[in-house]
Amino acid sequence: MGKQRLYLFDTTLRDGAQTSGVDFTLADKLAIAGMLDELGIDYIEGGYPGANPTDTELFGTPRKFNATFTAFGMTRRPGRSASNDPGLAAVLEAKTDAICLVAKTWDYHVRIALETTKEENLASIRDSVRAAQARRREVLLDCEHFFDGYKSNPKYALACAKAAHDAGARWVVLCDTNGGTLPNEVEKIVGEVVKVVPGDHIGIHAHNDTEQAVANSFAAVHAGARQIQGTLNGLGERCGNANLVSIIPTLKLKPEFAGFEIGVSDAQLKKLVHVSHALDERLNRASNRHAPYVGESAFATKAGIHASAIMKDPATYEHVTPESVGNKRKVLVSEQAGKSNILAELERIGIKANKDDPRIARLLEVVKEREAIGYAYEAADASFEMLARRMLGTVPNYFDVTQFDVNVEQRNNAKGERVTVSMAVVKVKVGDENLISAAEGNGPVNALDQALRKDLGKYQKYIEGLKLTDYRVRILNAGTEAVTRVLIESEDETSDHWTTIGVSSNIIDASFQALMDSIVYKLVKSGAPA
Ligand SMILES: [Zn+2]
Repeated sequence: MGKQRLYLFDTTLRDGAQTSGVDFTLADKLAIAGMLDELGIDYIEGGYPGANPTDTELFGTPRKFNATFTAFGMTRRPGRSASNDPGLAAVLEAKTDAICLVAKTWDYHVRIALETTKEENLASIRDSVRAAQARRREVLLDCEHFFDGYKSNPKYALACAKAAHDAGARWVVLCDTNGGTLPNEVEKIVGEVVKVVPGDHIGIHAHNDTEQAVANSFAAVHAGARQIQGTLNGLGERCGNANLVSIIPTLKLKPEFAGFEIGVSDAQLKKLVHVSHALDERLNRASNRHAPYVGESAFATKAGIHASAIMKDPATYEHVTPESVGNKRKVLVSEQAGKSNILAELERIGIKANKDDPRIARLLEVVKEREAIGYAYEAADASFEMLARRMLGTVPNYFDVTQFDVNVEQRNNAKGERVTVSMAVVKVKVGDENLISAAEGNGPVNALDQALRKDLGKYQKYIEGLKLTDYRVRILNAGTEAVTRVLIESEDETSDHWTTIGVSSNIIDASFQALMDSIVYKLVKSGAPA
């Protein structure tokens, strides 16, 4: 028996743009659409042409996507004809392959929000779908509040869905707009809808207000729906939308869904981690370490006995292979670490070591000593690697910082405004060469970072693509003294990420340690010669 096709519809650029703190530019939208297309998503909803300048421009920009590019808009307003509604006209004018129109399907909303009759709302659905069809667009009808509507008046909610389908909509999308519906309810209600509209014309659009948007999407598929709508990283208003980044691998990798086929190939699935992290970067957010499948901790193991079992056979503690989604296995080096954790981590980063080598026992001791004073190597993979490589004697001494000086000054600028300026001067010895760099920054750590990376002589070309993407500070109480722990996340031109750590009673010193580890890590990674 052939596999059944399931379609994926992404609304990151429309519903995802409702996330508080998210404001996509035109360049953001084009870049994200490009990533979605590369991932193999069937439909990309670009936004709301006519409603805001960015979206109008987006639809005016030439695009070349495999995905069906979709414009979003509203069905005609009550009391107007489809040809005399400026909002609908703007959507119909947009250069796009498909149009998704939203309509009310909850009788209560029809009465209170639209202030119209149920009949007029049905007529609006029919007219709007036909108008979009007449423009030779593929038409989707989003049934707003469908599940709440069904609970209030099942006959009317079904009539709305049927009206859209009968008028020629390719897809009737059932929206859990308030996000409060539970999976068993979704399955039951979708089961009723497919008696009226065939399942291969039904889509599900779930919001995550009970953290079950992904489960609700699968419940709808079980009941017969064949299109899933969602966003990258579950972006969306309030608690977000169904997370496609969790839905895609589940559909691809779980035997439960082996009877289905989606547009994402095995090779495209391997880009999932990259796509998820690239979106966070665009949004200037730290990625969720604990995100299923793609988080940095999704395949990380801490306890000693698990680590030794994982080394024998990874399947013992993993539900899918990390490589399938482009992630990496990680064995955490932590306070409880045994030798097996250390050995597993060394193996992962490509350092050959013999378990009876006395340096391994010494490394374990040093890790424990340092963790006792505030270091957290499980959160700083690159610093662990640097420590291990140094102890095993494989890090060249590329350069020495012989002196640095950071100063913070508050004064009046030329315009007479009070400003705080930071400046750093760094003296570096590279081979026989003595170099001095100075830089200003928006804070002392930023100035130090700028100065450090300004001139490393013959090594400069290896760190050109290095940038800091996150900087986190925590004050810890170690014994009687407060110490500062700094974690720095860096990235390079290959989109590789790593985290380094520094601990000191002085925040500048802690930052300096983490910065140095990051630079040296990058030099090692780039194969810079000693
Ligand atoms: Zn929504």
